Amino acid sequence: MKRKESNIAPSPARVRIGIHTSIAGRLELAAERAQELGCDAFQIFSSNPRIWDPSGINAVEAEAFRRRRYTLGLAPLVIHDNYLINLASARPVVRFRSIQAFRAELERALALEADYLVMHPGSAVGLKRRQALSNVATGLRQAARGLCLNGLPDSGLQILLENTSGQGSALGADLEELGELLQAVPELNLGVCLDTAHLFAAGYELRGPGSVDATLAAVHAAVGLDRVKVIHTNDSKVACGSRVDRHQHIGKGKIGLRAFRQLLRHPTLAGKTFILETPLERKGDDRRNLRTVRRLVGGNGRAVRRKAKRRG
Ligand SMILES: [Zn+2]
Ligand SMILES: [Zn+2]
Repeated sequence: MKRKESNIAPSPARVRIGIHTSIAGRLELAAERAQELGCDAFQIFSSNPRIWDPSGINAVEAEAFRRRRYTLGLAPLVIHDNYLINLASARPVVRFRSIQAFRAELERALALEADYLVMHPGSAVGLKRRQALSNVATGLRQAARGLCLNGLPDSGLQILLENTSGQGSALGADLEELGELLQAVPELNLGVCLDTAHLFAAGYELRGPGSVDATLAAVHAAVGLDRVKVIHTNDSKVACGSRVDRHQHIGKGKIGLRAFRQLLRHPTLAGKTFILETPLERKGDDRRNLRTVRRLVGGNGRAVRRKAKRRG
């Protein structure tokens, strides 16, 4: 395949690599941006993630997006849900709104033929964790009612629960809670999206000998690694266990290059999709982070560290 950027090596079959991409302008521009960056896969918001937006996507727009994405050969397509949605909420009005908004997320994801819809489990503020988890399970069931999901003949869409940093009363920092949700709604065949920065902030160590193996073993025990479809690949501005959500450029944060090299090459994560959600502070940050990840997958570690250092 010809790429404009000859310095970005084609992806080894070992893993698929992508980045969260803006839909500014027109939806299909996101696919073009991802391709131009040399991605195999990509993630988008299907509408503004910070406002309640029940709107659908018009058929013409959806068709143009689907066509562009398939032509460019990008897969999988991951959609991240709206930040306001809280299916756990103790307030009936918020919970009702959240179910409606998540329903709209599912409908847009189906219209765009997305492979995965990533969601944060929600916040347990004002509730016992057990009640909050039960609200999430009920909300998911209600939002998905009557839709064809999970590899049924006309859709391959799967909902992925994302682990969180545990900021405030966020559910899902403890992987056992994700495991409980998977079991609570077996009919939806939920999967998991692991975020490395969230794992680390929630107290799962990734540095030092044996840490990546131990954390992946904990993931496997709680949810099963076969359920993990996407890995949000972010370094962390904050220390292990600090329970705040601050993404950093790959190798520039507290997690560090060594852990990312281990994760990207880990045999149990072979074939998974790694999506970057790293900060975009300066022009080219996206390209630089993708390049670092490519080198970690394919190159030798010393070269990676030297080059990372030279870039400053
Ligand atoms: Zn994430
Ligand atoms: Zn985050």
